[in-house]
Amino acid sequence: MRWDFITWLHEHRSEIEASGLAVVQDLPAYVVRPADECLSCWSSLVDVLLMDQARTPVEGVRQWAAREMQERGATPSELLTITEALSRTIHDLVPPKVDAARINGCVNALGSALAHYFAERVERLAVEKSQLEALYEIARELAASLDLSRMLHRTLAEVVSAISAEMGALFLVDRETREVIPETVINWDGGDMAAATLPSAWQMGQAEPLLVLNDLPAEQPEAWVQPLLTPSMRSLMAAPLVANGEFIGLLAVASCRRGVFDSNCVRLFRAILSQIATSIGNAEVYRLITEQAQELGRLLRHQQEESTKSQAILTSIGDGVVVNNAEGRTILVNPAAERILDKSAEELDGQDYQGLFSVFNTEGRQEAIAAMEVLLNAPPADLPKAFKMTLEFERRIVYAHLSPVLTQRGDFLGVVTILRDVTKEVEADRTKSEFVSTVSHELRTPMTAIKGYADLLHAGAVGPINEEQERFLSIIQHNADRLTALINDLLDISRVETGRARFDPRPVQVGDVIADVVNALAGQAKAKQQKLTYEVVGGLSDLMGDRDRLNQVLTNLVGNAIRYTPKGGEIEVRAYPVEGAVRVDVRDTGIGISSDDLGCIFERFYRASHPMVQEASGSGLGLAIAKMFVEMHGGRVWVESEEGKGSTFTILLPLPVHKEQESLRLPPRLIARTRTVLVVEDEPDIAKLIKIQLENGGYQVCSLGNGPAVVPWVEDKKPDLIMLDLLLPDMSGLDILRALKSNLVTADIPVIVMTIVPDDGVAWNLGIVDYLTKPVPTADLLRSVEKALTWQGRVLIVDDDEDTVGLLSAAMRQIGFTPLVAANGYEALAMTRRHRPDLIILDLRLPGMDGYEAVTHLKRDGVTQTIPIIAISAHAVNVDQERKRLVALGAASFLPKPFSIGELLDEIESALKPAPRPTSS
Ligand code: ADP
Repeated sequence: MRWDFITWLHEHRSEIEASGLAVVQDLPAYVVRPADECLSCWSSLVDVLLMDQARTPVEGVRQWAAREMQERGATPSELLTITEALSRTIHDLVPPKVDAARINGCVNALGSALAHYFAERVERLAVEKSQLEALYEIARELAASLDLSRMLHRTLAEVVSAISAEMGALFLVDRETREVIPETVINWDGGDMAAATLPSAWQMGQAEPLLVLNDLPAEQPEAWVQPLLTPSMRSLMAAPLVANGEFIGLLAVASCRRGVFDSNCVRLFRAILSQIATSIGNAEVYRLITEQAQELGRLLRHQQEESTKSQAILTSIGDGVVVNNAEGRTILVNPAAERILDKSAEELDGQDYQGLFSVFNTEGRQEAIAAMEVLLNAPPADLPKAFKMTLEFERRIVYAHLSPVLTQRGDFLGVVTILRDVTKEVEADRTKSEFVSTVSHELRTPMTAIKGYADLLHAGAVGPINEEQERFLSIIQHNADRLTALINDLLDISRVETGRARFDPRPVQVGDVIADVVNALAGQAKAKQQKLTYEVVGGLSDLMGDRDRLNQVLTNLVGNAIRYTPKGGEIEVRAYPVEGAVRVDVRDTGIGISSDDLGCIFERFYRASHPMVQEASGSGLGLAIAKMFVEMHGGRVWVESEEGKGSTFTILLPLPVHKEQESLRLPPRLIARTRTVLVVEDEPDIAKLIKIQLENGGYQVCSLGNGPAVVPWVEDKKPDLIMLDLLLPDMSGLDILRALKSNLVTADIPVIVMTIVPDDGVAWNLGIVDYLTKPVPTADLLRSVEKALTWQGRVLIVDDDEDTVGLLSAAMRQIGFTPLVAANGYEALAMTRRHRPDLIILDLRLPGMDGYEAVTHLKRDGVTQTIPIIAISAHAVNVDQERKRLVALGAASFLPKPFSIGELLDEIESALKPAPRPTSS
């Protein structure tokens, strides 16, 4: 029987395993392993030998070696030792008679299979090594430069060589056109492609799938691949470049050989892809950062230049500039401000605004601080535009202009104060005025001599004069008069400017002054065949004024009217009472004033270019002086004119307010309560009838039939209205009326006469509000009473919102006030001066001059400062702060909108309270 190795191996397996195990257990990879693992290594190698003889054990050895290396960490030399030990063990155990060659084939196959396996591994490792080197090289290229195109070209060259391709191209997406354009190519002859034609997964930023074609053109690629192909191309591999999830381009390599791109190539290509994409992404980020850094650098340089410019301007500016931030701290001071405020920038920096104006005298300092507080605390919507004031310290005079600093969006940043030292200008002005005054005085003496001697000569005091001499002397006299008038005008102006103008206020009847002036100028008018008339309407109260000055004003106005009205024209002077003032209109039918000249004629030395004006002698100073004098009286002067038709010059002169009268005046009633009417009537039946009529109208009625009891009763009870019969048995109704009207406590209580006596006007002159002749229908009686009661006081409502005005007017009427309405600050000032209301309700947000400015003006003006003001606003952010600020400015109180009529009444009541209560005397 033939000896069979396999059979022998089966029979001696346990023997082989027993003797070989020791070898394995001693090897370093196995020494730490349990015996069964060492045995499994050994016996699995024996299994390889026992494999079907027909098959080579090559595959078995490969698997065995791969497993032992992978799972147990065995090294190639350890595995060789094991195979050698197995072959030795077999050789030792095989019977000597067996031909060694018979077993050698099998056993040697183990060793050669292993050697083959290792050789393959070495080869694969070498490829991997070269690929890693290529990758490393590519990574190095990519990292070496941030110059994108240079870096990409060199990288592509590395890729092409690492993958053993001959052609390569790198495409990038153009952001604007969305075209995929070759950025760099090697032996490539392709064109642009629209990004939209590429696989949608790529466009969406997915890196897969790769396109691998190894047998062109047999593989018949899709249509979008066509632009990449060239006739010689046989293999093509392409993939998208994706950076930060965005599709940025395409990498393609190609070869003229078939089947070039195996799995190794694909793996390497993938690794390269992501490296390139990341680098392009980084380069893009770098480009963006660089661009931004450059842009920022440019901006910074620009800002530095601007700030240097601004700094230079601020430094060289002659006016002082101080900026306070929104908290009121000083944050910027220029050298001029340091000089004016007499403090260094270090001292001022960060200082509170309270200390900023410390050098100025108390009055100015307080005014500046108050203005600053208004600006710092006003809600943005109500921010005043600016405050202007004159500040003084020692002998210096500084104009200050405080205004808010706002951003373009309207955010409040703080307050800028401009300070201008005008000491020199003021001094120069004063010196000029003094010079004019001195010169004018000095000129008067020679003028007196010239005029006096000319008069003497003219009068023939030194002998007879011929006609020509007389004419010459007349010219001298006329010009001497002109010169004297001019000197007088100049003197007047300089006196007012230097504060030395004489102003001697005494009670004056304007009617008398007008009569004087008209009489004095009648001759001039007559010479021009003009009709000069005057009218004084009603009994005008006395003004407190300087008669000479008023005479001068009217002489100028009437004189001008005569001069600038052609022959045969008309001049009319009309004086009449208006609320709290006397108004005088000087109307002529003369040449009129053009709209261009109208705004200038009150300026000094201004004369219109009209031929009639130019022909007439004049200095252009008359109206300027008239304006000064009218303003010295607290009045106003203005003109309305139409060219070619005539002009009307108007002066408004306020009537005096008697202090004691003011304080003793009854405060207006403002109770929405039942009002009391006193009926003075001796006929009990009639008294009863009136009582019923009035009570039905909602009034409370008291009756008195006894004349002498009326005044004491009224003093004591202070009814809201008195209905007075003139025919009483014990006393004349007119006497009662006189007594009521001359008593300060009762004078303001409205009286309606209700009698059978016909109206002869006497009672009206005593101050009644209505005259009713009995019998009176109930409706007429109630209408009259209602009207009388609404005349108890005037309230000026200053608001530009029609709805608010309507509501407030109705509410005011209801509580017995007569509402007057002004829509803006300027109108409010004018109406307050004219009508002297008992109370002002003032909205802070007004067009033109706003509420704050109006309050400031009203409280500065002697004529209006005692009138209580209730400020209202819908824009207060902090009501308490706002109230404080307004009270500091002089307002009686502040009421935020919306408010109820009840709240308003409370405020009005307390605003009017300070007026002392009258005491009966
Ligand atoms: P004068 O009359 O000396 O020129 P005024 O100051 O009195 O100076 O007047 C200034 C200017 O106003 C006059 O020159 C004239 O142009 C114009 N003016 C004044 N009053 C009248 C008037 N009643 N009609 C037309 N223009 C007048």
